[in-house]
Amino acid sequence: MRKTLVAANWKMHGTKAFAEQLLAELNNGLKSRECSAQVVICPPYPYLGVVAGNIGQAQLGAQNLSEQPSGAYTGEVSAEMLLDCGARYAIVGHSERRSLYGESSALVAAKYAAAKAAGLIPILCVGESLEEREAGKTLEVVAEQIQAIVALGLPDTWQNAVVAYEPVWAIGTGKTASPEQAQEVHQFIRQQLGEAGGETQILYGGSVKAANAAELFAKPDIDGALVGGASLKAEEFIQICCAA
Ligand code: PGA
Repeated sequence: MRKTLVAANWKMHGTKAFAEQLLAELNNGLKSRECSAQVVICPPYPYLGVVAGNIGQAQLGAQNLSEQPSGAYTGEVSAEMLLDCGARYAIVGHSERRSLYGESSALVAAKYAAAKAAGLIPILCVGESLEEREAGKTLEVVAEQIQAIVALGLPDTWQNAVVAYEPVWAIGTGKTASPEQAQEVHQFIRQQLGEAGGETQILYGGSVKAANAAELFAKPDIDGALVGGASLKAEEFIQICCAA
């Protein structure tokens, strides 16, 4: 049985005071409503420590990591450092990293391997652009992104790993994929994962809100959500976590 997992991607938002306040409200809400979902909070790097110290029943994640273990890589942060700060998860290959920072599927795969080697659980993001969807290439694009990971040839590729399907056209746009559109791709992803796919949590991301979470989570292959904008509002995010 796969547990529902809801991950918050704060992106480059907030201050230390904001993080503390949001965490306090989240902790109270999750506890008082006996929310059973696994919750992961991915703050900006400088606030990892603040969030780790106030994490409550949630777990800590990072939004990115270096593919390198250590060395002269100015501005980079390694998987070991993230673990050392209390992180259990790291988002890998978010579409903003792929499109704004030129991360190729090969680099994303190297980051995925680095996370796994250190014992961090990667949250691998995949998804198509609007042009790709309109050209009927959704499954092809997602398969290519998944195959880049398979090509690593790791012995346990999809164990202790999470996949997030995030159609690029739905991220931060208010346009959510319909539960049926999402389920179709989630089912396809699960097939691509092969044998281990039955246990791997596959999250949906892209304008998830309190109002649409329950119908997404009701689909058989949707195991939770990766939430951007709505994760910055305590009540909204708590409702998403409790929609499981
Ligand atoms: P959104 O972002 O919920 O604001 O659409 C999701 C994400 O980018 O992970």
